[in-house]
Amino acid sequence: MELNNKSLFKEKCFVNGQWEDGQNNNRIEVNNPATMEIIGKVPNFTADETKSVIEYADNAFQSWKNTTAKERSIILKKWSDLIVDNVDDLAKIMTVEQGKPLAEAKGEILMGASYIEFYAEEAKRVYGDIIPDPRPGKRIVIIKQPVGVVGAITPWNFPNSMITRKCAAALAVGCTTVVKPASQTPFSALAVAELAKLAGFPDGVFNIITGSAKEIGMELTKNPKIKKISFTGSTEVGKILMEQSASTVKKMSMELGGHAPFIVFEDADIDEAVEGALQSKFRNSGQTCICTNRLFVHENVYDVFLEKFTNGVKKIKVGNGLDEGIVSGPLIDKSSLEKVIDHVQDAVNIGAKIAVGGDVHPLGGNFYQPTVLSNVSTKAKITFEETFGPVAPVYKFSNDEEVIKMANDTPYGLASYFYSRDIGKIWRVAEALEYGIVSINNGLPTIPEVPFGGVKESGMGREGSRYGLDDYLIIKYISMGGI
Ligand code: NAP
Repeated sequence: MELNNKSLFKEKCFVNGQWEDGQNNNRIEVNNPATMEIIGKVPNFTADETKSVIEYADNAFQSWKNTTAKERSIILKKWSDLIVDNVDDLAKIMTVEQGKPLAEAKGEILMGASYIEFYAEEAKRVYGDIIPDPRPGKRIVIIKQPVGVVGAITPWNFPNSMITRKCAAALAVGCTTVVKPASQTPFSALAVAELAKLAGFPDGVFNIITGSAKEIGMELTKNPKIKKISFTGSTEVGKILMEQSASTVKKMSMELGGHAPFIVFEDADIDEAVEGALQSKFRNSGQTCICTNRLFVHENVYDVFLEKFTNGVKKIKVGNGLDEGIVSGPLIDKSSLEKVIDHVQDAVNIGAKIAVGGDVHPLGGNFYQPTVLSNVSTKAKITFEETFGPVAPVYKFSNDEEVIKMANDTPYGLASYFYSRDIGKIWRVAEALEYGIVSINNGLPTIPEVPFGGVKESGMGREGSRYGLDDYLIIKYISMGGI
């Protein structure tokens, strides 16, 4: 990998301001999902080593919590600037370990930096409250304080921004963090740690460790010095972490799986809906938690939408994300590819028709063809399981009540999308959808200023916006008498 700043590629963990190899000789290999080449190895930290890192973070918390918001803001802003300055190298590292096209990787890095910039500013606005006491001679004041050491566990699909979105909010309010990134994409995380060091965070405030998810996860969830777990990943693992954290009653943020509906009403601008569906379905090869999973199209516009959408999908250029003009990279690994193959096969077996794609890509490896399925049965696996791949099943509906019922018929509740120009319908449908995010006439709803998060089995807590700070704060009321 040719980098301008070679110090960004680290094969060590970042602990208490130092780069550490760990005791375990059995290191974790990381491969490039486009070529299957091994690009490097990272340490395999044990539970005992994790415990030591938590001690460092707890020590650092004792002084970091007493810094002023302005002091923390200055370091955060510097960190954000350094990430922007190194965007080309960081994007290259991400494309090589994760597979997404270079332009998309750059977009994620800049988004990741903008979360830090946002919280550098917002840290100064953690206000308290005064409640008029109904009793004479008494006063009530509300203050907010950092919760303590945060254990953050992040996924491979957004190797940079899932870390910055959590840690920027946590660090901004005075918490310290121990981060475990996904084993498939640790290098993006470690590169960001190198820039955190340069930005000037005191030792122990921001730590990144790699290793067995189960072992590190167990220590993070059971250790009483960790006061908060912030997790982004599958609903299945989120539930395990919630159970494990119960014994120490930790504060929790869970950004889990999704199964987003995308509804095209009869009055929609069809060209805009096609554009939005292409963006929300095929970004990151369909591997985002807010990717469209089910497209519901009104029967009167079904044929025209299907034709235009299919034509758009045919133009998606698949290949190695480092190559010019590539829009869709490989899937992260073989088991992800197998899930996509299974979902398509299952849908076709019970009546779905392939409008385009429908098979592994001639490039081989982890590549799958961008696919559109029509006439999909609501009994198909793809109707109720997260596919996490470049497959768009299109269903037909005839009235609002029916489509709202179909859209809500899932245990997930992260993102939903719909296209309409009717103001009354827009309000009715937005209120009826059981989702944390409702995106109307817009295929790309995520920015730092919004409270991202789900309901139902898509999780709890919010990331981004001023609400994202609350997840790392405790509320204390101070009741004073004798006045
Ligand atoms: P995952 O398998 O749940 O893994 C996520 C993270 O959890 C990784 O760091 C993984 O480590 C770790 N992990 C796995 N098992 C663990 C355990 N027993 N204890 C502690 N940590 C454990 O999810 P994924 O496949 O990486 O990511 C895809 C999922 O994330 C999808 O469901 C997607 O919808 C969801 N997601 C949600 C959001 C959101 O904001 N709601 C955003 C992005 C993704 P290893 O890599 O070492 O196994």
